[in-house]
Amino acid sequence: MKLYNSLSRKIEELKPLKPPLVTLYACGPTVYDYTHIGHLRTYTNIDLLRRSFEYQNFNVKHVMNITDVGHLTGDDDSGEDKLEKKAKGSGKTVWEVAKFYADFFEKSLKALNVLLPKQLVKATDHIKDMIALIQQLQEKGFTYETKEAVYFDTSKFSSYGKLSGQKLTEKLQQARKEVHIDAEKKSPSDFALWFKKQGRFADHEMSWESPWGEGFPGWHIECSAMSMKYLGETIDIHAGGIDHLPVHHENEIAQSEAATGKPFVKIWFHNEFLLVDGQKMSKSLNNFYTIDDVAKKKIESMALRLLFLQTHYRKQMNFTWEAVQAAQLAYRNLQDQITALRQQKERTSLSEDKLSKVDDFRKRFVDATSSDLQIPQALAIMWELLKSNVPSPDKLDLVLDFDQVLGLELVNVKKEQLPQNILELQEKINEARKEKNFEMSDKYRKELEDQGFIVEDTSSGTIVKKK
Ligand code: AMP
Ligand code: ZN
Repeated sequence: MKLYNSLSRKIEELKPLKPPLVTLYACGPTVYDYTHIGHLRTYTNIDLLRRSFEYQNFNVKHVMNITDVGHLTGDDDSGEDKLEKKAKGSGKTVWEVAKFYADFFEKSLKALNVLLPKQLVKATDHIKDMIALIQQLQEKGFTYETKEAVYFDTSKFSSYGKLSGQKLTEKLQQARKEVHIDAEKKSPSDFALWFKKQGRFADHEMSWESPWGEGFPGWHIECSAMSMKYLGETIDIHAGGIDHLPVHHENEIAQSEAATGKPFVKIWFHNEFLLVDGQKMSKSLNNFYTIDDVAKKKIESMALRLLFLQTHYRKQMNFTWEAVQAAQLAYRNLQDQITALRQQKERTSLSEDKLSKVDDFRKRFVDATSSDLQIPQALAIMWELLKSNVPSPDKLDLVLDFDQVLGLELVNVKKEQLPQNILELQEKINEARKEKNFEMSDKYRKELEDQGFIVEDTSSGTIVKKK
């Protein structure tokens, strides 16, 4: 499997540390608001990555965190905790807010047929692990303490900036002085590992005892702690949205590698944004839609998944209702073709020629998914297969096989239970059409209609439905 690695800025062959095991950590949501379809684009792409490995018989250990504490509104340790801000004045506790949006997140993933991670773990359940990691960093001299917080000292980590390719000096020049909150913080690129329950955080609802007094962890430390706890000090793939690359992931590398002295991640997998009118779909711009908005427009969530499949994960994608409506039509067409294939005759043995054609489709499909996850290409191969002259039962088997990666729930497209005489009439129509005897095929079609059924054409043959 070849993947683009944001760290080396090259497409690389992933050589898992312990094949057939592939360790995959994905940064999860901060549960202070509804999961929107922008998030879902990222999680669908990560799901496609996981499924592509599993299709090739790798065993993927997939872990994801739920951020329910410590993610501040400003990237530079400024602002408020997003969850506490949301809970204020809402009549709900922070814990209730977190539970409500975490449930909505899970419901959204399920709607898109995203396979749930083996471990979906909350930051608040791992405070001890985070404290232990901060202590490790402290012992190695990578931290300093102020009245307000414990910070990671980025000047002590010589390769800080290697992921974003930004030198520390450049980063410092870009930092905005006016939001530099803690006067004792030495450098804008340093980041909080632990916030103390005092000053602006004196009323923080969530807090725990620690060697530095009562307080709560910074956002970045949770991913390092949980990734190492469940997957080991070095993992194969770490995934997330492209916005996390310059700060969150850079900081994860610094604190993990400073603590262990080992590489943290082999391949960094970053997803591009879903846009609306040219801008990132986001909670802060309030330009977002959820799966509920999609359902209200009578669009199936599988049509949304199909839409996501049409754009490569490293390209931005502009969301429009027209595009998702077109995807809905395409999805109906796909369902009809599956129904048509299910309604056709029993299997005949394959000729050498057809056998090699089936093998060729399968090979091209695997090649596409293995070439930096070229899912749009894999999808095109599936459509091409549907149009091909591969015999229907084999075509159906192969499409359902491909769907283990694509995840379009095609296996759920059920065969309609048609009466025997209707099935016979359908067969006669197909035969007459093959012989180009349209007079006869029309005659049978009329007979079918008289009995309350309709015939529809798809590129995979006719389908018969109740009127
Ligand atoms: P957050 O809850 O903001 O940390 O986001 C959760 C995940 O969704 C992160 O990996 C983000 O990078 C990703 N994400 C947020 N907005 C978008 C978007 N518009 N398109 C694609 N991914 C996004
Ligand atoms: Zn993370």
